[in-house]
Amino acid sequence: MNRKIDAYNSTWLQRAAMRTAEFRNAGSYSERSSIWSEIKPVYMDIQNYKCAFCEKRLSGEEIGTIEHDIEHFRPKKKITNWKIPKSLNGVPITKAIRNQPGHHLLAYNPFNYTTSCKPCNSILKKNNFPIEGQYDVTQASVISLIRYELPYLLYPLGNFDKNPEDLFFFVGIHPVSKGNSLREENRARVTIEFFKLNDHVQRKHLFIQRAETILALYRIMETIVVNGIVDEEDAKEFANRTSLHAPHANCARSFMILYKNDRDEAYRVFKDAQKYYNSVSK
Ligand SMILES: [Zn+2]
Repeated sequence: MNRKIDAYNSTWLQRAAMRTAEFRNAGSYSERSSIWSEIKPVYMDIQNYKCAFCEKRLSGEEIGTIEHDIEHFRPKKKITNWKIPKSLNGVPITKAIRNQPGHHLLAYNPFNYTTSCKPCNSILKKNNFPIEGQYDVTQASVISLIRYELPYLLYPLGNFDKNPEDLFFFVGIHPVSKGNSLREENRARVTIEFFKLNDHVQRKHLFIQRAETILALYRIMETIVVNGIVDEEDAKEFANRTSLHAPHANCARSFMILYKNDRDEAYRVFKDAQKYYNSVSK
């Protein structure tokens, strides 16, 4: 990450370190203007222009940076209590103390950034960061913090946190916990609720895009498998839509696993996606 940031902007890391030293001395985050937006394009590129949390495609153009928010994974200034929905009754979520300070030492840590869409960042995440362990804002190592805080949300970049696909998959256009262990099941359930990934009213657009993904994949697979035709462009589209970097990759890859294992069920899922798509299209 640092190498990419340095290649993009050779002075940023040094300036960021100076600011972090100031926050360390002050014991809190405070500054008149920030500099993280300067490196936003690095994250847009790494994430292939998709939101880190809901996987929808965002603008990749020069003037499209406005669509992306640089998201501080762990809140920098203060941590607020997330209003826990009833569906998560019984999931142990630590209550933040009143005026819980944020992670001032991570305001300029490149592994505390990701880019996300505005609904995920500005409306849903805000200053919330649900955990099972204890908040420790004196800690500057994001790797140690995973063990200490036991966060529920998944940090999507690098390889020091779980891959979302390890924790949840999609049944058609709906995300579902894999339930590997109680902790992982809870992480998946909190993530799905937190970003409203299974809320077809508030996040209707995600459902439409997932349905479009399934329709496209099913049609390509039928052309290839049933008709025995491997068209070069179909093969390319298949690879693009099922790559880890693709928008809605988890949904696409879950559907392909189903298609390989049970084509009759995949057909039913395809028809459901088609019915949903037609019902919401005008
Ligand atoms: Zn999003």
